[in-house]
Amino acid sequence: MPEGPEIRRVADKLEAAIVGQPLTEAWFAFPQLKTYEPSLIGEQVQAIETRGKALLTHFSNGLTLYSHNQLYGVWRIVKPDTELNTTRQLRVRLATAGNAILLYSASDIELLNADTLAVHPFLTRIGPDVLNSQLNVDEVKERLLSPRFRRRQFSGLLLDQAFLAGLGNYLRAEILWLAQLLPQHRAQDLSDDQLTAFSEALLSVPRHAYRMRGTMKKYHEEAAFQFEVFHRQGKECRRCGTVIEKGTLSSRPFYWCPGCQR
Ligand SMILES: [Zn+2]
Repeated sequence: MPEGPEIRRVADKLEAAIVGQPLTEAWFAFPQLKTYEPSLIGEQVQAIETRGKALLTHFSNGLTLYSHNQLYGVWRIVKPDTELNTTRQLRVRLATAGNAILLYSASDIELLNADTLAVHPFLTRIGPDVLNSQLNVDEVKERLLSPRFRRRQFSGLLLDQAFLAGLGNYLRAEILWLAQLLPQHRAQDLSDDQLTAFSEALLSVPRHAYRMRGTMKKYHEEAAFQFEVFHRQGKECRRCGTVIEKGTLSSRPFYWCPGCQR
């Protein structure tokens, strides 16, 4: 399943394709959404927000399309009036004069207004998004030490969207490696310096992945994103030279360096 950085990059591409142009077509597969179609023609998509793994497509008439791709949903960008040759089920089609964005296979799709958005069950349950630039290290540290999360092992905590939204399995492994921590720790057991380093890694790793994943070093000042432990079992740790190990943790594969993670 894609994690926050990959979902935000998809949202960036969708925004570039559709934002700020009058909609010429709005089509929804689900009968309960059909009644909204005419009211969206001539309106614009103003922004596509990501909240963890959910996408919020904000329209200029105040409505918001909520979609969560779960395991199967996928977005495509095409020229208007283009059909894709696919066996996937089309669920949403939004078009302007220049582009159309298509959502296939997702089943978790709703149209919300400001009131229903504010009380949406998924959105009210998830924690702050790691890619939200308003979120800072002090707030993450405070959240780690809160009564709700301070006794939770990092192995499960980092996969729980109620703690921080947008993290997933590769980020869990890479964050713990950067902070030099084993996943059995709980926030209440760490020193202040460890907590600070961990809080910094919880934000810096996903943000670096968002900016740099898939880019090549020669085109950028900043180093390209590379996995340090994820899918690197049997290889040497670039920090200490110890061989990276692989196991299972909270039912998901986990990768770590036994040499420098403590
Ligand atoms: Zn190491």
